[in-house]
Amino acid sequence: MKRASSRQSDAEHAPCKGSSYEINSQLSVGWIAKSLISWFDERGRELPWRSDRTPWGSLVSEFMLQQTQLARVVDHWPRFMAKFPSPRHLASSEESRALSAWEGLGYYRRVRLLRNAAMMIVREHSGATPTSVSALQGLPGVGRYTAGAVASIVAGERAPIVDANVVRVFLRLGGVSRSADDRLAVQWCWNQAERFAEVSRSPGVSNEALMELGGTVCTRRSPNCSACPLQKCCKARAEDMTEAIPLPKRRAVRSRVYMFTALSVSSRGLLLEQRSPSGLWGSMWQPPTVESAKKLSRASVAKAFGLSSAELHVRDRVLFQTTHRAVEFHIFDASRSPSSFPKSAMKLPRKCVRWKDLPAHALSSPLRTLVAGLAIEREQ
Ligand code: SF4
Repeated sequence: MKRASSRQSDAEHAPCKGSSYEINSQLSVGWIAKSLISWFDERGRELPWRSDRTPWGSLVSEFMLQQTQLARVVDHWPRFMAKFPSPRHLASSEESRALSAWEGLGYYRRVRLLRNAAMMIVREHSGATPTSVSALQGLPGVGRYTAGAVASIVAGERAPIVDANVVRVFLRLGGVSRSADDRLAVQWCWNQAERFAEVSRSPGVSNEALMELGGTVCTRRSPNCSACPLQKCCKARAEDMTEAIPLPKRRAVRSRVYMFTALSVSSRGLLLEQRSPSGLWGSMWQPPTVESAKKLSRASVAKAFGLSSAELHVRDRVLFQTTHRAVEFHIFDASRSPSSFPKSAMKLPRKCVRWKDLPAHALSSPLRTLVAGLAIEREQ
């Protein structure tokens, strides 16, 4: 990705000399920043939010990129921006419209926070997305990393950034045998990132280059060191430790949740209920569902719905993994139509949604797949 050369002149730094890098004194932070900028000018990927940078577009991309793969964000960002081209558009939208536009990206809490941030931007910044770290960090859902990324990339502020990619690159450069979730190691990376942003002639570009290197070359498995602009200065490479650093994270144990879902259909549509706003898939729509920490018998599920066992027919079982949970869906066909299905004991809002209106309702991805299959069945 070619870009106009940076304005300020760079102090020349001989490779791997003269640095006070804490772990590996051979590293020169300035040389690293300069090398990364040159590499990024040549090799940086063309991404939709890079071609026409705006503070709002950058903020949206950073919200999306938290915990979602880049390929998905590339797909979703242009559509989301077409619907909500400014904070005012998002702030004045119904929450359900924002949730629907976010569908496929997961972690819906982020879009609620982004909408709250848009409201604050309208209320307190006259609708203009702020570009300083301090103002950005005052917005809901914006932490040190997101504020630093937007402020440095859009406004050139000398703000450090540390995400999972940056942690991996710094730990390998310094030959630090720690895991990427080690608190002390992460703090050490923030210290390196601060020095990196201080000496770079163009902190936004070098920050972005650092993340890009971690995402494309210094990858978690099999880093492509022969293509790396920093290979001469990398302690992990010199000591043949690239596969061993970072150390493995402690594996979080996923809790298992059981969801028993009843499909009640008619020629008109499908019965859906809206989940409560908090928790997993908050405010999203689903066919009537009973949730439990343990597996329930069909008779128990039927009773929870106010049906008899004979009115529920086993259809499918689907296992869906989120970061913290293993969700086991047990899907049933209900013989009751939406108009005669017993009312929700949980008092969740319910309605029969016409088949053609289903795409406008935000559903979790496992249920979207299920409902799409149902719609196809009906057409055959
Ligand atoms: S030389 Fe290899 S391990 Fe070191 S920073 Fe580059 S890609 Fe990562």
